[in-house]
Amino acid sequence: MGYEDLAANLRGELLTPASAEYDETRAVFNAMIDKRPAAMAMCVDATDVQTCVNYARENGVTLAVRGGGHNAGGLGSVDDGLVIDLSQMRGIRVDPKTNQVRVQGGCRWGDVDHAAHAYGLAIPSGIISTTGCGGLTLGGGLGHLTRNCGLTIDNLLEADVVLADGSMVVAGPDENTDLYWAIRGGGGNFGVVTSFLFQAHPVHTIFGGPTLWNLDRTEEIMKWYRDFILSAPEELTGFFAFLTVPPAPPFPEHLHMQPMCGVVWCYSGKDLDKAEELFAPVRALEPDLYGVQNMPFPMLNSAFDGLYPPGHQWYWRADFFNEISDESIVEHAKWGRKLPTMQSTMHMYPIDGKAHRVGDTDTPWAYRDANWAAVIVGVDPEPSRKDELRDWAVGYYDAVHPHSSGGAYVNFMMEEGQERVQASYRHNYERLSQIKAKYDPGNLFRVNQNIQPKG
Ligand SMILES: Cc1cc2nc3c(=O)[nH]c(=O)nc-3n(C[C@H](O)[C@H](O)[C@H](O)COP(=O)(O)OP(=O)(O)OC[C@H]3O[C@@H](n4cnc5c(N)ncnc54)[C@H](O)[C@@H]3O)c2cc1C
Repeated sequence: MGYEDLAANLRGELLTPASAEYDETRAVFNAMIDKRPAAMAMCVDATDVQTCVNYARENGVTLAVRGGGHNAGGLGSVDDGLVIDLSQMRGIRVDPKTNQVRVQGGCRWGDVDHAAHAYGLAIPSGIISTTGCGGLTLGGGLGHLTRNCGLTIDNLLEADVVLADGSMVVAGPDENTDLYWAIRGGGGNFGVVTSFLFQAHPVHTIFGGPTLWNLDRTEEIMKWYRDFILSAPEELTGFFAFLTVPPAPPFPEHLHMQPMCGVVWCYSGKDLDKAEELFAPVRALEPDLYGVQNMPFPMLNSAFDGLYPPGHQWYWRADFFNEISDESIVEHAKWGRKLPTMQSTMHMYPIDGKAHRVGDTDTPWAYRDANWAAVIVGVDPEPSRKDELRDWAVGYYDAVHPHSSGGAYVNFMMEEGQERVQASYRHNYERLSQIKAKYDPGNLFRVNQNIQPKG
């Protein structure tokens, strides 16, 4: 059966290299990745997804699944194979009686924020609204609400999954419980999720934004921050960052283009009047920029969107950390000074609080004991600078990795090999591998941080 037959059996369009939209559609968020699929199925419903899965399996075609296309290693696409593109499947239904939100597999977090905010609700996600719900959720999901509401997977109630044999099942606490366990962190290894059901939280207006300091104070601020955040109320999340102040309002002109260290905060507690009080120790440190204020949650969740449009070069490295040691802070300060470009950054996300109340075998997320997930990313629009971005990210990573917990958050990794995948799932890899053998023995879903089927 050829691609013409597949096209005839789909309700959505099948794009091939002959299609006018081919180049625009095949582009993923990271322009360092340039894959040329044989075909991209713009699926409009679960039946289209099933048709594609059956086609790929029966014809020995390599299959990739694309949600928001944000993956660092471009794992939402594949050379010469078939891409199941979910971007046409972006329906959302909020149930105000239960605060549960049904989200189709191709939604982006901006879609969810928009729909849920109207009901005074939010689902813990990341920090950029253009990221796909599919990939972010299946890998774990951390961001502005982690300490208050847990990881995204901790709020996943059930999912509709198209399996490798083309059947559709529900994975939840009462049905296919092994699959339900595996998809809460195990990535796209087990099937295509066409719909997620999330528990949302009453989060509407938050008190948040950045506080920034001169880079000369990195060691002082980082030492203060590591102690402060771990003992702060769980309603407060704040990630440490190196960043360059964008040359535009609302940033004051005298700070434009200055590399700085800082924290991006989100207080999502009910009593916003309490927030100012909580920030007294922050103000006492006299930040050069104090940008925290009341704002709608979707505003904070999209605050970085403009700084990071699609189509830039991205080189990523990541690690979990149990602690931020004094020795590692010396390295951070050194590499923070070497930010190669304006958009390059390092984020250190706290993953304690509510996320620590789930056991380290309750989901595949094996680092419930770690306090931080760090990501180092070299970013720039200019393709000729890609080696510079890579050298900085790898050099920085090599310097701090010896102080890490061993593995990394899979969603912050590029394609770094099996050893790194196994280090990231640690003691949960064996169980994931058994469940993979049950649901996808032929490893049809292998364009991902791959879990190899047992045996
Ligand atoms: C600018 C930027 C900001 C980010 N910020 C955060 C953050 O704050 N917090 C965080 O946790 N992560 C963050 N990430 C990382 C993000 O979680 C990963 O890149 C994730 O893979 C993106 O998901 P996606 O659906 O957009 O990606 P895609 O490239 O479309 O897919 C990624 C992987 O997920 C699989 N997949 C996607 N959807 C489905 C589905 N419905 N069913 C089955 N498999 C699926 C794909 O097959 C692929 O293997 C960020 C990434 C970027 C580029």
